[in-house]
Amino acid sequence: MRSYSGRNGKGINLVELIILLIVIIFVAIITLSKLVDFSGSADRTKCDANRELIAYEIEMHYAGILSDNPSRGDWINSLTIDGVEPDWFDAGVVPTCPSGGKYSVVKGEVFCDYHSDNLK
Ligand SMILES: [Zn+2]
Repeated sequence: MRSYSGRNGKGINLVELIILLIVIIFVAIITLSKLVDFSGSADRTKCDANRELIAYEIEMHYAGILSDNPSRGDWINSLTIDGVEPDWFDAGVVPTCPSGGKYSVVKGEVFCDYHSDNLK
């Protein structure tokens, strides 16, 4: 087989070059898949933190309203809202899922339609 080294003919041949390329491509694929996993994991962590914040802000928002009307009792377990309302947050800035998921509140728990399971 033809050598790519030139002078003394002891360089790498085509088969060795192809094997080397396959190894490099394999390592690159493994590395990229790990990076994608880390990225997804970071989004998940941020989404979990957002949902904890939303749950806290809902509790603070409705606790203030209910302190004026305590007869509503077990209010958090009946609270179901599609989406997140800006007036729950002091600065009016609503946290958003980094993966583009949509938040909803079901019986007081905050869910993300992308990261489907809840916090518990
Ligand atoms: Zn999410």
